[in-house]
Amino acid sequence: MPSKLSTYRAKRDFEKTQEPSGTAKVRAADYPRFVIQKHDASRLHYDLRLEHDGVFKSWAVTKGPSLNPKDKRLAVEVEDHPLDYGDFEGTIPAGEYGGGTVMLWDRGFWVPEGDEDINAALEKGELKFVLAGEKLKGRFVLVRMKGDKFGGKRNNWLLIKHKDDWATGDGEAILKKDKSVASGRTMAQIASGKGKAPTPFMLATRKAFKPDAVWSTNVKKDDSPAGRPAKRKVSSANKRAVH
Ligand code: MN
Repeated sequence: MPSKLSTYRAKRDFEKTQEPSGTAKVRAADYPRFVIQKHDASRLHYDLRLEHDGVFKSWAVTKGPSLNPKDKRLAVEVEDHPLDYGDFEGTIPAGEYGGGTVMLWDRGFWVPEGDEDINAALEKGELKFVLAGEKLKGRFVLVRMKGDKFGGKRNNWLLIKHKDDWATGDGEAILKKDKSVASGRTMAQIASGKGKAPTPFMLATRKAFKPDAVWSTNVKKDDSPAGRPAKRKVSSANKRAVH
């Protein structure tokens, strides 16, 4: 396992949260993948995750993405996430790190623009890329802000749409498409553990798909091991229902 995930793991207690620990087998893909997870934590945000070097480079976009090139959206760089996180939809228990409901708001593939090395672009603080998602499409850029404005911290970036056929003046209209691309559910349905289970995107096979995180979206208040939902076997019969 890449040590890149040590921060991710240190922040979480996998006895309490249903989030993946990064051990599930992820299928190969022809292009790097991206996901955006709408996360109703203490403050609502949209987590943009770009697959790179075996992990998801991650940014919390505080107001969500905009399709208006005039909008500059604060994107706070956070710890690398495991690739199996890209199939996670459910509720992180209150009191745990990132407690709140998570929706798979968008997903698809991404490529850097041009042939610049991705690590060099991230180091430099300017990554131009193209998204081919179900909701977001076209050219974007992530630009790291100058550190002095934030007390020397170097984790504040801006997410900006570049002009192309998908850019629009009504940049926030896209946020009204407010259902999961993986399950069709609303935040309220996910929070209540109702509706369809998400279809996997990252994980190799149904067998390798660890569904606990999604079957158990209706996390009980008592998050002691005894209070957690029992593991259940996945069959085609119950894969549609989330309890
Ligand atoms: Mn988040």
